[in-house]
Amino acid sequence: MSNCDSCASNKSCNQKGKGCNKIECKYGKFKKIIGIISGKGGVGKSTVTGIMAVKLAKAGYKVGVLDGDITGPSMPRILGISNKRNLIVQKEGSEEVKFIPAETELGIKVMSLNLMIESEDQPVIWRGPVINNVLNQMYVDAEWGELDYLLIDMPPGTGDVALTVMQGIPLDGMVIVSTPQDMVSMIVKKVVIMAQKLNVNILGVVENMSYIKCEKCGEKIRVFSKKSAEEQAKYLNLPLLSEMPIDLDLVENLENGTAEKYICDKKDYDELISKVCK
Ligand code: ADP
Repeated sequence: MSNCDSCASNKSCNQKGKGCNKIECKYGKFKKIIGIISGKGGVGKSTVTGIMAVKLAKAGYKVGVLDGDITGPSMPRILGISNKRNLIVQKEGSEEVKFIPAETELGIKVMSLNLMIESEDQPVIWRGPVINNVLNQMYVDAEWGELDYLLIDMPPGTGDVALTVMQGIPLDGMVIVSTPQDMVSMIVKKVVIMAQKLNVNILGVVENMSYIKCEKCGEKIRVFSKKSAEEQAKYLNLPLLSEMPIDLDLVENLENGTAEKYICDKKDYDELISKVCK
């Protein structure tokens, strides 16, 4: 059970003193824990997590990333640390183990299943309860230290693991990621309603792949929908945090493992952070 004093939800919690079902991290203290979620895979949830982590670290915050997408972990690639490992340390004379997060060049601490298995293309073929346990352990037993922000790249959908995170980890808020397609919005709305039912605070929605910018005239061209990002946000009944363009240079840098530097220098993503940090 969580200790209220060290719980990130301390200020907003209405359960204080009554006990709660939140799990407690043994080797870490967080000022804020933010989950990044979308109802569907492939809309850019992990990319947005990476962008937020890099921008927050660049702004001087101490940041950690928990890759909660256990069956499709992509944070090591996005943050350019696929060649590093999460070490497992066992205390002498004890069965207790501790995980050591890997660090990016900017010092972002990362826990990901892909940093624990031999090669990144090995699938984990586990049932829900095992996946839940692994996720909880990566949160509880990792030596996070004192962080300003822990970002959790949530698994897609409204299944078991998303439920575990929303119920068990003391989230301060969640950022919803969507793309401008009615089909996607419909599925994303399920996550929004799930979070509301579980009393998880939603900070707003990021519309990813909103538009492409014409290289010649700078015009923003909506590729997937004639509706505006504001209209999509209104459908979800959420504040719009940011519209992010389709960015082929970002993709190239993600593929080359150089995205951290690219994101650092790119001004387009600053708006998102200013809204999340306010
Ligand atoms: P999810 O976590 O929702 O499954 P990812 O972040 O892994 O999605 O992104 C899926 C794919 O889309 C990746 O190949 C990523 O590089 C690409 N992608 C995400 N956001 C953008 C963007 N703004 N511009 C171009 N490609 C993007």
